[in-house]
Amino acid sequence: MSTSTITTSNQEIRHPKPLPAPNSDFFEFAETLPAEELSVVKKLRAYMETKVAPIINKYWVEDSFPFELLPSFKELNLAGLGMHGYGCPGGSPLLVGLVAMNLARTDTSFCTFYGVHSGLAMNTIYLVGTEEQKQKWLPPMARMEKIGCWALTEPLVGSGTGGGLLTTAKREGDTWILNGQKRWIGNAPWCDLSIIWARDVADNQVKGFIVENKTTPGFSVEKIQNKIALKVVQNGQITLNDCRVPDANRLQGGTGTFRDTKLVLRGTRHGSGWEITGTQMGAYENALKYAQERLQFGKPIGSFQLIQELLAKMLANIVACQCMLARSVQLETEGKLTDSQAAIVKAFCTSKARETVSWAREVLGGNGILVDYNVARFFADTEAIYSYEGTFQMQNLIVGKAITGFSAFV
Ligand SMILES: Cc1cc2nc3c(=O)[nH]c(=O)nc-3n(C[C@H](O)[C@H](O)[C@H](O)COP(=O)(O)OP(=O)(O)OC[C@H]3O[C@@H](n4cnc5c(N)ncnc54)[C@H](O)[C@@H]3O)c2cc1C
Repeated sequence: MSTSTITTSNQEIRHPKPLPAPNSDFFEFAETLPAEELSVVKKLRAYMETKVAPIINKYWVEDSFPFELLPSFKELNLAGLGMHGYGCPGGSPLLVGLVAMNLARTDTSFCTFYGVHSGLAMNTIYLVGTEEQKQKWLPPMARMEKIGCWALTEPLVGSGTGGGLLTTAKREGDTWILNGQKRWIGNAPWCDLSIIWARDVADNQVKGFIVENKTTPGFSVEKIQNKIALKVVQNGQITLNDCRVPDANRLQGGTGTFRDTKLVLRGTRHGSGWEITGTQMGAYENALKYAQERLQFGKPIGSFQLIQELLAKMLANIVACQCMLARSVQLETEGKLTDSQAAIVKAFCTSKARETVSWAREVLGGNGILVDYNVARFFADTEAIYSYEGTFQMQNLIVGKAITGFSAFV
């Protein structure tokens, strides 16, 4: 508690003055939502602050997923946000973005778990599934009775997925036989459905398949151990050993080529921009709160000029990312967001985030490396977002190709 001073003619009266509460929405971005959608965001923020924040550090340290949260999270009715029909809640692209941002503001892993299920797995079926597939899979996924994952990356093929996946799909009548491995797949160690991308040996094109993890013979998952980021998300290495999948599970509503993955990734790369901006917001708010409370030399460290400079630079990064998102989401709403626009959002926001979270860590001094103080988790998690959904370099190559007219992909 600071004090303000009022001087009268013959005495000085000191009044307690509450310090400003940390507010990372400095330009009131959320207020641009219509009232009905704003109430969804407010409800989510309250949920994250009261239910997730108190327990998430424990799960992060233990490298485990908080299954205890699933029943209450389902009640928020957020799975399939932005999708219309099929039991999905609908909502504008701006709401979808602000939900991701506010999930990550409390915990980046929880945002990723949700993003993999809704933004990747459900949205793939929504965008490139057939009508029958949407009717069959989306309602139970919207109710979160079935949780999904999305498997493109392989142990030997990461950034170069466009150049040739090693996982193969071979058709035999009405059945496809899948063989290969997928790596880093979020939710895979425990979820129900996988969207598997595999190269059709007949035409060499990449096709998507819905595979039921728990009942498909030959399907196995090994949890990836010893991560230093996004530890709450369970990532797996999937092995497909002669997995037989009916043709009815092949995604047939798109082009049946690698372009289908790009269509989905355009949305989720943009989504990573929201997620990493939320991550910066969480780190900033916790650092500011600490700076208001931590005393050195008899004063709050937040009263020192050099600390204020760090905090102001962090907030400027956040506002810059939010302003970029404010325009990109308009383009998305108009159906005009391009791959290179989504790529520049991801590249810019993740690179600014690396600065923001490291400044937040710095503000906390030694406590900045302790999970208990709610900044170290954001600091570490930022590294994963910087690299997934296409690395910083890949995003810049996409932008570079669009602005120069030359492809520098090798
Ligand atoms: C926590 C986490 C969760 C993930 N979740 C999923 C998931 O759910 N589903 C999924 O399919 N994948 C997932 N991924 C995989 C992720 O998308 C890949 O890690 C990413 O695409 C990079 O691939 P890579 O790790 O194999 O790196 P590599 O491709 O081996 O790249 C290594 C380095 O080389 C650079 N590089 C590569 N090629 C070039 C080039 N031509 N020019 C310049 N630099 C280059 C890269 O930018 C990077 O810095 C996840 C990854 C992580 C870490």
